[in-house]
Amino acid sequence: MSTRHLTRLAAVAVGASLLGTAVWTGPANATALPAVPPQPVQLAHVEAYPRQNVLPVWPDDPNDASIPIGVVPYDEIAPKLNALQADSDLVSARVAGKTVAGRDLYVVTVTAPETRAQAQQQEQWKRWLEDEPVKARTNARLLAEYKTPLFVNANIHGNEWEGTDAALRVIEEFATSTDPAVADLLKRNRLVFNVTANPDGRIAGTRANAAGYDLNRDLTIVSQPETNLIRELTVDAKPIITLDLHGYVSPTLLHPSTPPHNVNNEYDLFIKHALPNALAIEEDLRDLGYAETQRARIPFRDDAPGVWDDFPPIYVPSFALLQSSIPYTIEAPLNPRGNLTPAERVRRSGINTDVHEVAIKTSLRYIEENRTQVIHDQAEVYRRGWAGEPLRDIPDGYVPGWGPEDNYNTEFPRSYVIPTGAGQRSEPAAARLVDLLIGSGGRVWRAQDGFTAGGKSYPAGTYVIDLHQPKRGLVNSLLEPGIDLTDRVADLYAGPAAWSQGLTWGATVDTLWDELPDVPLLRTYDGSAPGTLPGGTPDLHLDIQDASDLLAVNALLAQGVPVYRLADGSVVVPHTPTNRRLVHAEIRRHRVNFAAAPAGWSGTLLDKVAVGYVGSVEVRDTLLDNGFDARPVTAATLATTLTADIDVLFVGGTLNVATLTADNRAALDAFLARGGGVVGIDTAGAAFSNAAGLLTLTATAGQSLASGVVNVVNNGGPVTSGALPHSFVAQPVWFTNLGAGAIVDQAYGADPLVAGWWGTNAAGTNGPAAAAGQASIVRTETAAGNGVVLFGTDPTWRLHAKGLHPQLGRAILWAAQR
Ligand SMILES: [Zn+2]
Repeated sequence: MSTRHLTRLAAVAVGASLLGTAVWTGPANATALPAVPPQPVQLAHVEAYPRQNVLPVWPDDPNDASIPIGVVPYDEIAPKLNALQADSDLVSARVAGKTVAGRDLYVVTVTAPETRAQAQQQEQWKRWLEDEPVKARTNARLLAEYKTPLFVNANIHGNEWEGTDAALRVIEEFATSTDPAVADLLKRNRLVFNVTANPDGRIAGTRANAAGYDLNRDLTIVSQPETNLIRELTVDAKPIITLDLHGYVSPTLLHPSTPPHNVNNEYDLFIKHALPNALAIEEDLRDLGYAETQRARIPFRDDAPGVWDDFPPIYVPSFALLQSSIPYTIEAPLNPRGNLTPAERVRRSGINTDVHEVAIKTSLRYIEENRTQVIHDQAEVYRRGWAGEPLRDIPDGYVPGWGPEDNYNTEFPRSYVIPTGAGQRSEPAAARLVDLLIGSGGRVWRAQDGFTAGGKSYPAGTYVIDLHQPKRGLVNSLLEPGIDLTDRVADLYAGPAAWSQGLTWGATVDTLWDELPDVPLLRTYDGSAPGTLPGGTPDLHLDIQDASDLLAVNALLAQGVPVYRLADGSVVVPHTPTNRRLVHAEIRRHRVNFAAAPAGWSGTLLDKVAVGYVGSVEVRDTLLDNGFDARPVTAATLATTLTADIDVLFVGGTLNVATLTADNRAALDAFLARGGGVVGIDTAGAAFSNAAGLLTLTATAGQSLASGVVNVVNNGGPVTSGALPHSFVAQPVWFTNLGAGAIVDQAYGADPLVAGWWGTNAAGTNGPAAAAGQASIVRTETAAGNGVVLFGTDPTWRLHAKGLHPQLGRAILWAAQR
């Protein structure tokens, strides 16, 4: 890498008089926006049932990890479903998506045949439940003939196999049954199966998908294609009950959960059904007759607060609850992995399959026996949303075991506004957030005129979220800050304790507590960022405030376009006709906003950046999502991987300098001697910095459970100029005893915790009071010319906090070249 310190004094831009007049140029304008945004399926396009497809058959795989467990291997699923479709008009199967590795995701619907008119009527009724809930639940025909949906999500964790086998068993039994009771059941119900939500994990015998992600932490981030399908099915099928089939907890574990409960739910309407159906499942498990199924564990009944909660909507069930479904995690009891005889493995997987079968059939029976009430209550959630009613106070003893520890409520604002134009810090971030809300079942509108609300003026096109909408709980859960849980629980099943896409995904979001903007609104079905190219021939300026901006910058650098970084971390591309054309192409691709460069700008010429990273798949994918050339590096391979073309070493996991071999140490020393940049996160980054003698400091970590949204103070400069005033932490780290030359780019606020959980040890050394005012991002340049930036916040965690990505990208660009 070269540590050039080139500066360039620009001539006054010819187009400076056009500053701020954003216009498109050239014929490309015609294709700048998606021609037809995705819309809901028109009723006229709804097809009859069955909807059968011949599924492609996958080659036999003798290494499929399912085989020794005694469960169905992936390659046998498609032939089985093809045969069932050939024999039965009750089964409809389709390839509904692809895994990250390209395998087919199978969705099966089991229901009595429907003419096209009947299918359209069913779809109409399903929409009424949400759109006109009172009309729906008082409609005699709907109550008699609506096919209540049940959704089974199987095998989301790849090495928890048996949900798939139970699903296939129930599909086959119902498809081939001659029992009139089954025929009747299928006239009144629609069963939707995601047969294996994680085929790659099923075959490999891993919990995660092939990209390394736990799909059951991804429902509000949707970073993986498998999660996207689960979300789509959960939103579109409108299931009365959702079953997410897992293993292995003994005895069988099933929801409802312990507190903390997500604060946005109409919990009364959930728990009144969830608990009795859980008790019915427990009883039916007992009747299986196995010694191992004589009792169940129902966390709501059996566990202390925080042990098995439904707080963050990152899980399938907690996400489905916000859709007005009655959801369950079912943990089958017997782990078939590990050092067992083949016979014992098969015995265990057989019992687990029976357990999941019971969960499916008992839940169906519950819907059958309580049909009118569950339809009424699903609609009641939507009715309360439309009416904007406050959440109910649920009295102690509402169901057995309900007490003060279970009461978690929020207050809903009247509306949210996501500005467009000058009031929006990042239009691509705003479009991403709007897409997340809509994809999650929320409703978003666009103002047809300019308006003033809450003392601010907004242009036409501004996104408005009227929170009087059926899934207001889901929308609010993504946008509100969250609550401080610290004093209420001492444990969580898994973090985060607060997430707030509204505060951490990089878009400006305004909350209107008592006001719905008085302006004509048109419902929109996707977010859009037009991107802007200023008219005339100015040098082109881009403020990096989103991953989209980094994608554009990195693409321009890869094409050899000169890009200069200004002191505040923004960049300028000098005008030439070629540069302008290439910038225009990146604007169309990434929807970013270039402006005319400030007169008399000066900056540092950047070069294409190669990043060697130590860390998880999340580190890898964050770098890739921001357009960096990312290459894996490990402590054991530095001699061969920390090559001469690597500009920045990203320490996103432990890199222990003291235990390096001589060859690997020499490679590191050579990298540092030539001025290589270093960006690190958390205690691992700080430990490396200390051990390598770069920037000495003390890094203190909060407790492992500490997580959430924090206040930060940004001090400007290349890394945090224009950064969000909030950040995201998952075990926060702060830096003290800073060595000479350290610059604090960002510090925790005086009262750091906005929302989440951040407890304090007895000594008082690891709580928010200890972190208040301390550095969260520090930077230095060493005598050898190494640019070093250390983060105590968590910009890569599960690819969640999109608003932190520009800080990370700016840090990498700065560390690479100054
Ligand atoms: Zn699981």
